[in-house]
Amino acid sequence: MTFVAETNVSECDASSPPCKEAAAVAAEAPCVAPQPQYKRFSDLIGNTPMIDLTALASPKVSGVKVLAKAEFMNPGLSIKDRIIRNIIDQAEASGQLKPGMTIVAASSGNTGAALAMIAAMRGYKAIVTTNQKCSAEKMNAIKAYGAELIVTPAGVGIDSPDHYMNAPQVFTAADPDKYFDIDQYDNMKNPEAYYKTLAPEIWEQTCGTVTHFVAGASTGGTISGTGRYLKEMNPAVQCVLPDPVGSIFKQFYETGQYDKAKSYLIEGVGKDTIPGALDISLVDEVIVVTDQQAFDMCHRLCQTEGVLAGGSAGMNLHAAIEVANRATEPCTVVTVLCDSGVKYLSKVYNPEFLENNGLTMSEHQSQ
Ligand code: PMP
Repeated sequence: MTFVAETNVSECDASSPPCKEAAAVAAEAPCVAPQPQYKRFSDLIGNTPMIDLTALASPKVSGVKVLAKAEFMNPGLSIKDRIIRNIIDQAEASGQLKPGMTIVAASSGNTGAALAMIAAMRGYKAIVTTNQKCSAEKMNAIKAYGAELIVTPAGVGIDSPDHYMNAPQVFTAADPDKYFDIDQYDNMKNPEAYYKTLAPEIWEQTCGTVTHFVAGASTGGTISGTGRYLKEMNPAVQCVLPDPVGSIFKQFYETGQYDKAKSYLIEGVGKDTIPGALDISLVDEVIVVTDQQAFDMCHRLCQTEGVLAGGSAGMNLHAAIEVANRATEPCTVVTVLCDSGVKYLSKVYNPEFLENNGLTMSEHQSQ
């Protein structure tokens, strides 16, 4: 069997006279050709591909597109690499974060993994607090990078000191010179990261044709930072926030009030309190999505488009397709596939886990 390389050097026969001569010259003469620029892993954060998923929609009119940013292709396999890099870069530059300090973060898992990864590369100790809802894969990744993981009970009230979001303050209050808190829920450098990177990427990758941006929220950083930029570029851009059944954002958006949150299975989105990073005034619509709808879309995305993504990606895509299917004129709906499905093989893609939670593993075939 012969192999043919897909490059323009495939015609070169290494044993042919010209190639032998070139090799001899290269061995003697110093290389003057421009050297390729190699990067460290964290320099590869952002500039993710835009995937065309229009095939999953059934639009009523022509000219409707559904596009998705492959955020699971970030080095830490999630969108949250973007905020950790922005927050840590600026904290180092301002002197707030100094060598020898320990960085703490409350996280549903992805911010924790991103922190653990970058802390490992820059020589900081990291402590991540999460709750029992976090998948084993995300917990194990945080520990694999060498960070300390503190797991608090799931379902405790936000007022409880046992709530994972309150745990970092225990460290910073005890020794503010030793601990730096990422504080992703109230830190405005979180939405700023998306304003500076994700949003311009979307604008450029759609050549300014984006009409809708669909992104679920936890801290609200993604929808607020991206929504602000896109609306500045074109005030007609609509920001749609998909929200899991049980989260408070839908009720808060409609009434300004909210009741106690109920439990749901989609990880990393929805909330039981309103984070400071969320600017709800940028949101034009909230679409409620069930666990089954989100996970069905994950299974379909995987089995027909070959994209293995997390539960929030399924939720976002479900809502993006709803927007595309009801459109009455051409539009470009852009959403985000926030993290990798590899982080949820034991849950979203595990028939036993689904069955134990009253859900099913759906089967799909491409048309
Ligand atoms: N999806 C996943 C999987 C996440 O981990 C997060 C962040 N927790 C989000 C979506 C929501 O992003 P944001 O915090 O920017 O609202």
